[in-house]
Amino acid sequence: MAKKEISDERKALYYAGMAVSGIGILLFLSVFLSFMNPERMLSNGSVGSIMSRPFIGILMIAIGNGMRVVAARGVAGSGIILDPKKAREDLSPWSSMAGGMIKDAMDETEIHTKKEIVKVRCRNCSELNDEDAKFCKNCGEKV
Ligand SMILES: [Zn+2]
Repeated sequence: MAKKEISDERKALYYAGMAVSGIGILLFLSVFLSFMNPERMLSNGSVGSIMSRPFIGILMIAIGNGMRVVAARGVAGSGIILDPKKAREDLSPWSSMAGGMIKDAMDETEIHTKKEIVKVRCRNCSELNDEDAKFCKNCGEKV
């Protein structure tokens, strides 16, 4: 029986990854803010330590994104361990979501694609028969 919901651990990991990425982005942007404010840059220490910030920032963004991928798709689903059976289980919330979306789309278009009922009148007895009927349901004559 495949799980249809994402576990709390994976949810927690997802939001932790989001936080790590967020800190990374702030760290990355803080460098540009420092450049716009040279006095603050000097008071914050040497230029060298400021220059290392964007790299740490990018690294944190990458780690955070990785954490979110693993959290969303599971260890097997994201390809960290090669296990198609487990991957299918890990991805089942997404598969069922995709299935649900297709179903929604089908329901939406059903109104437009609903087949029109066409009746064919028998030449012998004037009885109305279905379009695909080969013989008249009333007199048995070929339609
Ligand atoms: Zn007939």
